[in-house]
Amino acid sequence: MARVVGIDHLVLSVGDFARSKEFYRRLLGFLGFKLKYEYPDMAGWSNGRTLFWISAADKKGRKRKYRKGDIGFHHYAFELSSRSDVDALGAFLEKNTMTVLDPPGEYYDDKYYAVYFADPDGMKLEGMVYKPRPKARARVRRRNKGRGHNHCCRRSLPAVHTALAISRSLNF
Ligand SMILES: [Zn+2]
Repeated sequence: MARVVGIDHLVLSVGDFARSKEFYRRLLGFLGFKLKYEYPDMAGWSNGRTLFWISAADKKGRKRKYRKGDIGFHHYAFELSSRSDVDALGAFLEKNTMTVLDPPGEYYDDKYYAVYFADPDGMKLEGMVYKPRPKARARVRRRNKGRGHNHCCRRSLPAVHTALAISRSLNF
C-alpha cells in the first residue's frame, strides 16, 4: 500500500504571469512562503513543507478566461492553525484590495472556519481551519482579565467577530 504524506507541490497556470507573480508574492509572503524557484515563465514558493507554483498559460490557454465551473481547477485550501489566522488573512486580503468571495466565518458547521478569495484569474482559494470552536469560557476569562485590569473606566473587550454571525451559508 502507498500512503500520501503531504502535498509536495501544486502548479496553477495563470493568464498574466507578471500580474499573478505579484499577487502570489504578496499572498504567499503573508502566509509564510518564500520564493524558491524563479524562471521566466514559472515561479515556485515554499514554506518548507509544500510548494506552490505558478506557470504562464500558453498562447492558446491565454485566449480563454478561467471559469470555476469548467473542467479543471475548482479551488485550493490553505490550512491555517487558528481562527485568528483566518481573520488575519481576511484583513490582509481587504487591505490589499484582493477579491474576497466570502468573508471569514463559519461554514458547513461550527468547526469549519474559513475565508474564500480569488486570484487575479478568478481562481478560487481558501484559508481555513477545522477545529472545535474556541471555548466560550476561555473567551470570558480573557474578558474578565481585561476588565479587572482596567477597572470600569475602559471597555477594552476584544471586538467579537461579527463575521461569526454573518455567513453560515454552504459554500461551493
Ligand atoms: Zn474548500
